[in-house]
Amino acid sequence: MSKWVYNFGGGDSEGRSDMRNLLGGKGANLAEMASIGLPVPPGFTITTEVCAHFTETSEYPDDVAKQVEEGLKHIEQITGAKFGDASNPLLVSVRSGARVSMPGMMDTVLNLGLNDSTVEGLARQSNDERFAYDSYRRFIQMFGDVVLGVDHYHFEEILELAKEDRGVNLDTELTAEDWKGVIEQYKAKIADEIGTPFPQDPKDQLWAAIAAVFQSWTNQRAVTYRRLHQIPEAWGTAVNIQAMVFGNMGDDCATGVAFTRDPSTGENEFYGEYLVNAQGEDVVAGIRTPQNITVRSKEKQGSDMPAMEEVMPDVFRQLLEVRGLLEQHYRDMQDIEFTVQGGKLYMLQTRAGKRTAKAALKIAVDMVQDGVLTEEEAVQRVDPASLDQLLHPTLDPEAERKVIGRGLPASPGAASGAIVFTADNAEKLANDGQKVILCRIETSPEDIHGMHAAKGILTTRGGMTSHAAVVARGMGRPCVAGAGELRIDYKSGVLRAGAVELKEGDLITLDGATGEIIQGHVPTVEPELSGDFAHLMEWADRVRTLKVRTNAETPTDCRTAVSFGAEGIGLCRTEHMFFEADRIVAVREMILAESEEGRRKALEKLLPMQRQDFIDIFRIMKGLPVTIRLLDPPLHEFLPNGEAEIEEVSRSAGVPVEQTRARMLKLHEVNPMLGHRGCRLGITYPEIYEMQVRAIFEAAVEVHKRDGDTIVPEIMIPLVSVKKELEILRALVERVAQEVMEHHTQKIQYLVGTMIELPRAALRAADIAEEADFFSFGTNDLTQTTFGLSRDDAGNFLPSYQSQGILEQDPFISLDQEGVGELVSIATERGRKARPGIKLGICGEHGGDPSSIRFCHETGLEYVSCSPFRVPIARLAAAQAALEEAERDV
Ligand code: PEP
Ligand code: MG
Repeated sequence: MSKWVYNFGGGDSEGRSDMRNLLGGKGANLAEMASIGLPVPPGFTITTEVCAHFTETSEYPDDVAKQVEEGLKHIEQITGAKFGDASNPLLVSVRSGARVSMPGMMDTVLNLGLNDSTVEGLARQSNDERFAYDSYRRFIQMFGDVVLGVDHYHFEEILELAKEDRGVNLDTELTAEDWKGVIEQYKAKIADEIGTPFPQDPKDQLWAAIAAVFQSWTNQRAVTYRRLHQIPEAWGTAVNIQAMVFGNMGDDCATGVAFTRDPSTGENEFYGEYLVNAQGEDVVAGIRTPQNITVRSKEKQGSDMPAMEEVMPDVFRQLLEVRGLLEQHYRDMQDIEFTVQGGKLYMLQTRAGKRTAKAALKIAVDMVQDGVLTEEEAVQRVDPASLDQLLHPTLDPEAERKVIGRGLPASPGAASGAIVFTADNAEKLANDGQKVILCRIETSPEDIHGMHAAKGILTTRGGMTSHAAVVARGMGRPCVAGAGELRIDYKSGVLRAGAVELKEGDLITLDGATGEIIQGHVPTVEPELSGDFAHLMEWADRVRTLKVRTNAETPTDCRTAVSFGAEGIGLCRTEHMFFEADRIVAVREMILAESEEGRRKALEKLLPMQRQDFIDIFRIMKGLPVTIRLLDPPLHEFLPNGEAEIEEVSRSAGVPVEQTRARMLKLHEVNPMLGHRGCRLGITYPEIYEMQVRAIFEAAVEVHKRDGDTIVPEIMIPLVSVKKELEILRALVERVAQEVMEHHTQKIQYLVGTMIELPRAALRAADIAEEADFFSFGTNDLTQTTFGLSRDDAGNFLPSYQSQGILEQDPFISLDQEGVGELVSIATERGRKARPGIKLGICGEHGGDPSSIRFCHETGLEYVSCSPFRVPIARLAAAQAALEEAERDV
């Protein structure tokens, strides 16, 4: 018999924290907490396998029903309460819990088990009729919305009218009798909307809620979230059913969330928020602004609301103890949820806390210094992709700032942009190339597309754990949350900060590190990469075996990459140098020339400029390897655009405008990506490659003379598919190299190699290796040609492929290891066999993608090459790949 249900609570559990694939993160950690003796209300978890089965067939596997029954009995035994019992009713929560957390994406139902008779039992037990009926109406509202699909505004409307009738403003001013009236109206509304009465049988409620949670795995919000975070559809969610505890049963009750360390800075300080007499969701939802847990953070934030440390000192001490135990047990910063009922603490969740990259670094490095983690473990703790947040500019401390308000520093980094008030607008303007700041009273899961499109996020309500704060940190967007002194008026489209009134489109700047909101644009400064960052990188470099190079061709990019630790250039795309304003006219003259002689004349003009480019690069790289790729794109890309440019180039080349037009027509290709580009240009117009090779060797001679650095240029021929192409072009390189060396009586060592970016080249790697000192995998083109998928147009429909689960990830971002990867493996094997010691690397975009880097490590490449800002990411990812391999080999 398969096991679909795992119990926890009562001092033991059937699951463990390493079972998150089966039990989801929440379920696995509830089990773990219960098993180490923390106060966890008892419950059980229905596995993700049931979700997968249910999603596919809309049915449950055999035995699930029976095992759920047994799970309920387990809870009943520990609590002494009985599901559906009128005198001592067991109430449960039903929550989703996927393998990785997806905040706010899926559904939750609380207080399940209440009906017209159990509510009376709850009233007697709690000795609080008002509380019981409030709980019942909350349940109907949640269940109605989440399970029965009755829009929540119906309930809000009824509630507003009830308050108006009674002449009160707050929910808390309604009496038990008032709630009874509201409940009758809620039930009537539901019957009206769905045609059947609100279910009174707790078992019916339970099964409907379980189905709703499983179905919420495929709701639009969750699908979008998974696409943005590259979470596979197939994972599914678990469902956790747990005895209710109440944080809203009086003033000795509370609910809260906390981080065992500060999630924004990583400081070793307990950081959390709580609300007295409230139910769990109130804190996260941002309905009431929560209070600080510690006096220290209260003072730091200048809040005048009492801290939990002052209000509930006993519970606070228990919580501190739990904090210590959890950190000791998990050896990581935890994000916890708790409820206090009648002065007793209950733990409802723990998980590795989401943190900013800065905090992740600090926590990992601190834990090494405290002897909690080894250096290798610290290296594995930081998500390589998150380093991106640290590599970008922050506000110039010297610049003037017109601070118009302040909120919580919810996610670091700085951003300036135009104010927008809706997610749709944010997305629209961002698509038009504008930088925007999304300003909302608060955000909800419906806003994620706009949050993604925006450069920064500002909210006027909610705390450090509000939706905006959590999501922005995950996305690496700067965010200032809960800026309570600001007013946003959606209707009139204004943001008011005291006397300042800003409209949609006005510029503001957010400083996510301080919480400042600044009017206008503020200049930024480059990041400082010392301290914790340098420590972690040093540890990473110690364990990795893959080298990390960069794709760069401008002096600025080369310098940035070297400062980030690049160990050479893996791809210098020389065509980028052709686009420079001062040389594009000469390039166009070259293209327009009718004869070889004409082309050579124009190329003569380009030679000194190319030589200077290479001199600059060689000098910056100081003897590190530099791979220079000869011209790749089709010539028509350099042709003039528009009348003015056509006239300008015709004048400069001394040809009639008609001739330019005729040449443009001639060069036009229906499918340029598969056309006259790459080495095909070198084969048909060898003089272009001759000029480039000459420039490279003359530059190497010059730098050797000037600096004494030994430069070993690696000359790379693009888009080879047939050995003969490489044979011809290798001979060209050798001839020109020889001429330059003889002329200067200076010997220069060099390599000639090729990109492997076409399937034929990968398959014929053994042949091609005879002519190549190195291969560099051009996985952009290799992906394009393996899938037959245009790299320029695929974005239009790939999202649909991802949402339908045809492709898990965009293959241009993360290497398709099964297909394209197989070609890489084949070429590696065949190339090495034909030429042992052949140098192998990758220079497609995948060279900066952590999971592709793992693949490159496992395939045995020598280096990856990526854009300068991804160099640290690649260093860390390469180290993690090496550590994972070492772990597997143990
Ligand atoms: C590639 O195709 O992977 C590559 C690096 O070349 P480019 O992107 O310039 O075509
Ligand atoms: Mg290419």
